[in-house]
Amino acid sequence: MLVTGEIFINGQWLAGQGTSFQAVNPATGETLEPLLTGASAEQVGVAVAAAAAAALELKKLPLTQRAGFLRACAAEIMALGDGLVERAMAETALPRARIEGERARTCGQLNLFADVVLAGDFLEVRIDTALPERQPLPRPDLRSFNLPLGPVVVFGASNFPLAFSVAGGDTAAAFAAGCPVLVKGHPSHPGTSELVARALAAAAQKTGLPAGTFSLLTDSGHEVGRALVAAPAVKTVAFTGSFAGGTALVKLAGERPEPIPVFAEMGSLNPVVLLPQRLQADAEQVADAFVASLTMRVGQFCTNPGLVLGLAGPDLDRFIAAASAALAGQSAGVMLNAGIQQAYAAGVVAAGRQPGVTTQAVGEAAEGTLGCCCQPTLMSVSGADFIANPQLSHELFGPASIVVSCRDLAELKEAIAVLLGQLTGTIQGAPGELAAYSGLCDILGQRVGRLLINGFPTGVEVCHAMVHGGPFPATSDARFTSVGSAAIKRFLRPICLQNYPEELLPEPLRNSNPLKLRRLVNGEWTSAAL
Ligand code: NAP
Repeated sequence: MLVTGEIFINGQWLAGQGTSFQAVNPATGETLEPLLTGASAEQVGVAVAAAAAAALELKKLPLTQRAGFLRACAAEIMALGDGLVERAMAETALPRARIEGERARTCGQLNLFADVVLAGDFLEVRIDTALPERQPLPRPDLRSFNLPLGPVVVFGASNFPLAFSVAGGDTAAAFAAGCPVLVKGHPSHPGTSELVARALAAAAQKTGLPAGTFSLLTDSGHEVGRALVAAPAVKTVAFTGSFAGGTALVKLAGERPEPIPVFAEMGSLNPVVLLPQRLQADAEQVADAFVASLTMRVGQFCTNPGLVLGLAGPDLDRFIAAASAALAGQSAGVMLNAGIQQAYAAGVVAAGRQPGVTTQAVGEAAEGTLGCCCQPTLMSVSGADFIANPQLSHELFGPASIVVSCRDLAELKEAIAVLLGQLTGTIQGAPGELAAYSGLCDILGQRVGRLLINGFPTGVEVCHAMVHGGPFPATSDARFTSVGSAAIKRFLRPICLQNYPEELLPEPLRNSNPLKLRRLVNGEWTSAAL
């Protein structure tokens, strides 16, 4: 299927009336056809109005139809075939295996959410039946469940052109909740976005969903995104990207006459704590695994291990030496776009100039001058210099990491205590060693959304128990995850119906329990009818 450069609004493919731009192959610097035109303010208004109309219809549709739509989205994405893979490779410089893996993950997420919809637990039905004889006052009949919040704006992430973009985790979770989605496509991979949008449009049409269920609006600047967030009918925003972008959108959404939530995932340093016995036994092995995690896909993961903390001494020195040797042999990688590459290069220079920071190793230089290439980098700093310098606590997106050598356990605890909110934290310890350092797990656990033992944080499983979130600034709201089935909670709100006539009750709340849901009835979980 060819990329046409059109946008998708209210069930129709149209030429955008905004500013034009072209995709760029980050490996070669070549511009890719065709010319794309962003949406105008008027087109944004049409898309939002269609989404508002669709929201009213979507919440009334049977759950089976909603689940069928999610499965159809997955099937239509697979039906795009190799054209999707090749376009995504050209726009991102990510290798075939990664794109194919991401496609599988994207379809897996959509199917997982279809299962979630059919299971119905996300509705969280609670029923407290009337107690007319209760003294001193009777209790009314009270029944609550979750409703979709309404139109959601999704900002596609540059580093996951499929799994966190047009049909990614945010979109799948919002559809599962019953919300229409307006995607602000990432300008790094607009052709990929269009192809996936065509799959979603076909799925919506085949399963009989309203025209405004899904829209794709592209733009190479901020106007379209800001107009979408400001539109009164929009009720929620989901974002993955930079701290600057995420916080700008949180501010904008908070200043609306009706403020709305922005679920922003803004990255993380993902500290890895190396305990002494682990290092003594396995410094070289841990170093190799660390470098593999750090440099995977040119370090462009929000779970990249950007900070390592340990106790100063010969074993941490062995780790630094082994990691430096492994990293120095790593070839230069192509980053997702020129902006990310320039931010990485500037960030490495700025970090290397901070007081007490030593550059331990730099990967091989790129051959030639074309492409958004970057070199992996390993730095080190003392615990005291790290604690004194908040500049070192900010994410450096890409394959760079800093090893912090702490004088003693007290300084190690202090270095963890000054950390900002993180998506993940890892502790590497020998068998039996972890119990002696359980206090470190407690301190680290207060700062992270996911705490790992003896692993590395890259690789985020899409499942029911995953928490891909964490305290600010890792995300804008630590109560929620953006990966896994619990991500649906971001797009729901509870409503309680009091003394509602049985014949007017929505199906999930009826006495007969026609959907056979597990419900909390008078304080007890049951799937039985009343
Ligand atoms: P970004 O600059 O935050 O952009 C993400 C999306 O948000 C884009 O569609 C962008 O639109 C939009 N946007 C950004 N700032 C905005 C604003 N003030 N108002 C309205 N829309 C805004 O992220 P990126 O382009 O993916 O990468 C840049 C940096 O983000 C990286 O260097 C890295 O530090 C970080 N990053 C973090 C993660 C993560 O997992 N948390 C992932 C990728 C990147 P336009 O592009 O059209 O301006």
